[in-house]
Amino acid sequence: MNSTGSNNAAEAFQRLHGVAPTGVWSAPGRVNLIGEHTDYNDGFVLPFAIPQRTWVAAAPREDGVLTLASGSATAPPLRLADLEPGSPRDWTAYPAGVAWVLRQQGITGGADLVITGDVPHGSGLSSSHSLEVATALALLGLAEREASTSDVAKWVQQAENDFVGAPTGLLDQTASLCCTEAHVLFLDVRTGRQEQVPFDAARHGLEVLVIDTRVSHSLVESGYAERRAGCEEAARLRNVPAVRDLDTEAGLPERLQPLVRHVVTENARVLKTVELLRQDRYEEIGPLLSASHASLRDDYRVSCAELDVAAQAAEDAGALGARMIGGGFGGSAIALVPARIRADVERCVAEAFARHGFAAPRMFTAVPAAGAGRDR
Ligand code: ADP
Ligand code: MG
Repeated sequence: MNSTGSNNAAEAFQRLHGVAPTGVWSAPGRVNLIGEHTDYNDGFVLPFAIPQRTWVAAAPREDGVLTLASGSATAPPLRLADLEPGSPRDWTAYPAGVAWVLRQQGITGGADLVITGDVPHGSGLSSSHSLEVATALALLGLAEREASTSDVAKWVQQAENDFVGAPTGLLDQTASLCCTEAHVLFLDVRTGRQEQVPFDAARHGLEVLVIDTRVSHSLVESGYAERRAGCEEAARLRNVPAVRDLDTEAGLPERLQPLVRHVVTENARVLKTVELLRQDRYEEIGPLLSASHASLRDDYRVSCAELDVAAQAAEDAGALGARMIGGGFGGSAIALVPARIRADVERCVAEAFARHGFAAPRMFTAVPAAGAGRDR
């Protein structure tokens, strides 16, 4: 694990509370190689953990109060018994939401939590889930409660859906909890079946370049809920539990067809990508990434100008493929790039952004890192 990060969190706790924390837990952000907007359709996803993480240094309390500090922000103490969905509404909603869910699981004592982290916020790299997962592990750890990763994932989903009010699926927290170094996580969301698939782009002279457009997305406000409702309606009309069970959009009302077409083709692209990885045919993944982007842009309609420019500019500069990741309407894109031209691709993307009058994007190469756990 990253000992500097956990030391920093422990020191921040010591500065604020005058004592050392009982423990430090951390959880990473994630990149999803492919499989977007498939998780809440019971489909397939293929994420990996990024090196950027959120750390939670924690000590237990016995008065049912939760105190939260992050960076320079120290929130007023929250009484667990008073927590209700919808309040608080700022950043504290994420850890408070987790505490609210875990209180229903009998974890009632309260805690002091000091949060540090380097996952960019609102960049589609899932800083919110890394915060929630690290909080959940900290509160469970303080209470000396064992829990399965599927239970933790479910509780975090309840916190996001019911407390924060973002109707997200299971991809992000499962990725943060279960990803391992040097692998992508092949997850069948319906069955929960997981497979760690080795992912070593460098051995093929390739890199995954993350392009953060710096356009902040908001899942609570965006068209995410509307897309999700459209998929649920399509499944209902065809009498199946989820769009996962469909193999064509034919026969559905015209307005639902593009949504279903995206999910059906995206699930197939995930399966194909896994097959190519197993066969060491990394370069052939590029066109699948680009097809995923086109499908998200044209059929699912969750892209935006900055994401389209990022993907297109990367490809024009020699990337083998590129696509938006995350919920859309902002956030980040990834590009599969030959390592020898990575600097050229970065330059071309930056120039394209400047030409369009967009703020400069932030770019970094992502290598699969470790999932969540206790650091000390
Ligand atoms: P994403 O998950 O893609 O980064 P979200 O909008 O879902 O974007 O979540 C970002 C929000 O999560 C931030 O605006 C902030 O409220 C909260 N957050 C994430 N990490 C931290 C942190 N280290 N300290 C405080 N709040 C955080
Ligand atoms: Mg988020």
